[in-house]
Amino acid sequence: MNEVIYYILFLVAGLITGSFLEVVIYRIPRKISLIRPSSFCPECGKKIAFYDNIPLISYLALRGRCRNCKKRIHLKTLLVEIITGLLFMACYAFFGISLYTLNGIILCSLLVAISFIDLEFGIIPNVIVIPFSIAGLALNIFLNLPKWWLPPAFAAGAFIFMLIIHLVYPAGMGMGDVKLSFMVGAFLIKSVVVGLFAGFLVGSVAGLILIIKNRKLRQAIPFGPFISIGSIIALFWGNNILKWYTGFF
Ligand SMILES: [Zn+2]
Repeated sequence: MNEVIYYILFLVAGLITGSFLEVVIYRIPRKISLIRPSSFCPECGKKIAFYDNIPLISYLALRGRCRNCKKRIHLKTLLVEIITGLLFMACYAFFGISLYTLNGIILCSLLVAISFIDLEFGIIPNVIVIPFSIAGLALNIFLNLPKWWLPPAFAAGAFIFMLIIHLVYPAGMGMGDVKLSFMVGAFLIKSVVVGLFAGFLVGSVAGLILIIKNRKLRQAIPFGPFISIGSIIALFWGNNILKWYTGFF
């Protein structure tokens, strides 16, 4: 029974965080302050009352429309909240209540925000990646003591690996992806190997599907979401995949 309460708490915390991430996704690329003005409808500009800003519940109560202008609230809003809620629950399921859970929910929140920004704007903002690379390093150095060198070593390794790809094929891999790889390396440490590999695998499959459907790719697809999907796989299953893989030798 207790267990269920924790799952619900993590789900709710994730929904609330997702609602904040939606603000981040909307405002950071548009260079609007995260604090002021308070939440507003992107269609009519009307301030959103607190009771219309409750994650998930308000969306359902308003039937997905703004109370003022009745325009549709973007489904993405709901999607960001639900994905974040489910990822928070998964962090609890895998890590219980520990500093690893904190590590997981920070990384998941960052990846949700970065993926949606990259999908819409094709950028990965430095204002997110740089401070959280430092935060991720600090937390993971602490978690890995006395082997303090592991997080910076794997972060730097991921950075250099992706930098080489960027230099060889600048059109396919932006500098934003390279910096993002450093950040996920700080959080994932040795699992970052799985994260990048899974990211390339998912990215290739998605690229192939797009090529088959559109005959040819008209524009480069953002790679940030694939690094993010790979990183989430690595966060939850990275150690097991590495064990399974090294078991062959
Ligand atoms: Zn409106």
